[in-house]
Amino acid sequence: MSKKRVGIVGGGIIGTAIAYFLSQDEDAEVFLFEKNTLGSGTTAKSAGTHCLIDDSLPHEFWSVRLFGFRFYMGLEEEEPGSAGFEKTGTLLVAPYPEYEMYGLQAVDLAKASGYTAEYWKDPEKIRQIVPDLTLDGILGAAYSPDDGFVDPTMISNTLGRKARENGATVMIGTEVTAINVENNKVTGVETTKGHFDLDVMVDATGPWTPFFGRLAGLELPIIHTKAEVFILEPQNPLGYPFPVLKYPRFYARKDKENVFICKAHLTMDLNNPEHAGLWNPDELPMTGGTDPYFWDFLTEELMKHYPRLLESSLANDWVGYRAEPKDYMPILGETPVEGYVLAIGAGGNGVIEGPTIGRDIAHYVMTGEKSWFMEKLPLSRFEKGEIEQHHKVTW
Ligand SMILES: Cc1cc2nc3c(=O)[nH]c(=O)nc-3n(C[C@H](O)[C@H](O)[C@H](O)COP(=O)(O)OP(=O)(O)OC[C@H]3O[C@@H](n4cnc5c(N)ncnc54)[C@H](O)[C@@H]3O)c2cc1C
Repeated sequence: MSKKRVGIVGGGIIGTAIAYFLSQDEDAEVFLFEKNTLGSGTTAKSAGTHCLIDDSLPHEFWSVRLFGFRFYMGLEEEEPGSAGFEKTGTLLVAPYPEYEMYGLQAVDLAKASGYTAEYWKDPEKIRQIVPDLTLDGILGAAYSPDDGFVDPTMISNTLGRKARENGATVMIGTEVTAINVENNKVTGVETTKGHFDLDVMVDATGPWTPFFGRLAGLELPIIHTKAEVFILEPQNPLGYPFPVLKYPRFYARKDKENVFICKAHLTMDLNNPEHAGLWNPDELPMTGGTDPYFWDFLTEELMKHYPRLLESSLANDWVGYRAEPKDYMPILGETPVEGYVLAIGAGGNGVIEGPTIGRDIAHYVMTGEKSWFMEKLPLSRFEKGEIEQHHKVTW
């Protein structure tokens, strides 16, 4: 029997995860096309926080979070450093009852899954982790020492290497320039390194998706939210281990001796042109480009919660484009063009969701069977107007 020829376009954390899982199926002949280098797109700009105590994904998707967490820990166990995991713990600080409820549930879920986690009402406990926080009006904080952040570009390269070892053809510096469609079915792609016949093509192009889909006549419902990042260099060393720090409106983590700080993606307003739009990812510089509003936003948040961090200089800054569907959840599975499969719109959660998307898309491509996660997140939800707005956090 001839093998199924599957081409994946995009070598970010999503595309490489799909290639990794597909390459384990001996009936698949896998091609991964990446126009730059693996993990060089949004993946390279990411904070890489992958925590059990985290507000970025509703708890109904706990198994997605857990599968991803265990998958990365598994990579680290097999080969230390291959996921770039730094175990710093997470501290999620709750200023509102809804957020507190979220933290309490996260603690329970983490404990039920075999990890260590606690919820503290006592400010002294919270100050033991981050002494400089202003805790007036704070209800409490959830903490897990087991959490941390990963290096998403490292993971993309690890998964690309493993896919290659399993026989996949991983091509960097290879842009897909055209999609061949006959009788409404994908038959292959044209690339800067020649033509490839394919049975299935998986779109994992991240923020390039709205432009890439047009090569097959598809208008895909993705817009960009601007993820603006500051790397703050405190005037005096903080003098304590810095955890992943989560507030409803921003989050931070250590970056060597500095602090990586970013606006929480669920606070992005898709109707505000400062937050959201459609931009050309090829014109995005690797560093710089943050907007003045971001500085104002952050100053206000830090004044309120963490004034000591305002005594910092700016060591670096950059912007990433998150590929965001209107309900902040990915779009997975079939399109109106046969053989054109979507693994798009990972938004602000691609690191968390990558392993599940990789596993589920690989299984779907080879068997036609969809996981419950895929069943929940088809393209057709936008056509039918069945978007579940509860995915948008309102705190
Ligand atoms: C500042 C910031 C912080 C974030 N923090 C977190 C976090 O803490 N936790 C979390 O889970 N997520 C986080 N995210 C989100 C996460 O980084 C993204 O969801 C994820 O990286 C998206 O991966 P991707 O593979 O879909 O896209 P990308 O990494 O953008 O990959 C797409 C790839 O497709 C390639 N490509 C495009 N067109 C073509 C073509 N025609 N031919 C060949 N190749 C092509 C591109 O070169 C690119 O490498 C963050 C994002 C940002 C910007």
